Amino acid sequence: MTFRKRYTGLIDHYRDRLPVHDDTRIISLGEGNTPLIKLHNIPDTLEKDVDIYVKYEGLNPTGSFKDRGMTMAVTKAVEEGSKAIICASTGNTSASAAAYAARAGITAFVLIPDGKIAQGKLAQAMMEGAVVLQVNGNFDAGMRLVKEVAEHAPVTIVNSINPYRLQGQKTAAFEIIEELGRAPDYHCLPVGNAGNITAHWIGYSEYACADGDKVTDACAFCNGVCKFAGGSIVGARPKMVGYQASGSAPFMRGEMVDNPETVATAIRIGHPQSWDYAWKVREESDGWFDECTDEEILAAQKLLAEKEGIFCEPASAASLAGAMRDVNSGKIPENSCIVCTLTGHGLKDPDTAIKQSTRPVISIEAKMDQVKTAILDNLA
Ligand SMILES: *Cc1c(COP(=O)(O)O)cnc(C)c1O
Repeated sequence: MTFRKRYTGLIDHYRDRLPVHDDTRIISLGEGNTPLIKLHNIPDTLEKDVDIYVKYEGLNPTGSFKDRGMTMAVTKAVEEGSKAIICASTGNTSASAAAYAARAGITAFVLIPDGKIAQGKLAQAMMEGAVVLQVNGNFDAGMRLVKEVAEHAPVTIVNSINPYRLQGQKTAAFEIIEELGRAPDYHCLPVGNAGNITAHWIGYSEYACADGDKVTDACAFCNGVCKFAGGSIVGARPKMVGYQASGSAPFMRGEMVDNPETVATAIRIGHPQSWDYAWKVREESDGWFDECTDEEILAAQKLLAEKEGIFCEPASAASLAGAMRDVNSGKIPENSCIVCTLTGHGLKDPDTAIKQSTRPVISIEAKMDQVKTAILDNLA
């Protein structure tokens, strides 16, 4: 029998590319190493021939990509002696912060918007022992409070303005390149605060460097915490494409949006924290921003589940909804290799899923003839 080395999380795996020391106590739940799944059925429905892969980040320990950033942010907070962390959240950041704080034995304070949080996310934060503060306002209001309170109280902010978050999240790009053997032509993501699109660009840029371990462009993004500086980009990088929900699309409007609204609660953000970074990513990568309606987002979520068996939360489906439209319009050319990030798991938001399901639950009596009828009526 041969043994495979136990996977112990992304910091351990990419240690030489992340800002940790040999003796750093790593706070990990085995995050990262998520599946890159090639879509088989959806591409057949498109007007052009393309390869689409989805990076299923919903399979991280707390069900979203936030864990990649949180393992780094909490590891560094603990290293620096912090006893408490704080974040504003549309849900997934709070679930992740709560889990990693529990693991580290410190306190998590999470500020969530009134009412507009998916049930699964709230359940996680509550079970994992976070102090949950429900703010009478949206994410942006919570974020303002968090930035202010951190100046007066001994708490470390673990929102993506914490530069270690982006360092952890950049590892998703490493995994994609290592599995594909190349960078994709297009990388499509849903955009809220725009931290994740920025983090991916840092990751792709590091890999595309002349000597493999130095970057120039991307260092403008890391606030000086990354280990690399002084190289030049020689390898290929993808065009980065960010999709927003129409009711919550500051990058499309070219200005902040005060009352963002969308069914995709994870990207219901009107004042993105990584505003400047994201514009720079768009420019450097020659990519673009676009918007998807709630209807398009929900249709893509359902299509992924029905045609491929992959269940993601609404916000995640914006990446595929936008990519499909841009393939059909020719903006993304034939034969392209496309990666869409599925940022969070579908189980996070069961209410929205059940509400839009068109397959009714069929009630029957515990009798064979009724089962038989149901089978014969529903065989494809
Ligand atoms: C946080 C989150 C996003 C948005 O990511 P940003 O880095 O804020 O742009 C998208 N989808 C899900 C599921 C999220 O949890």
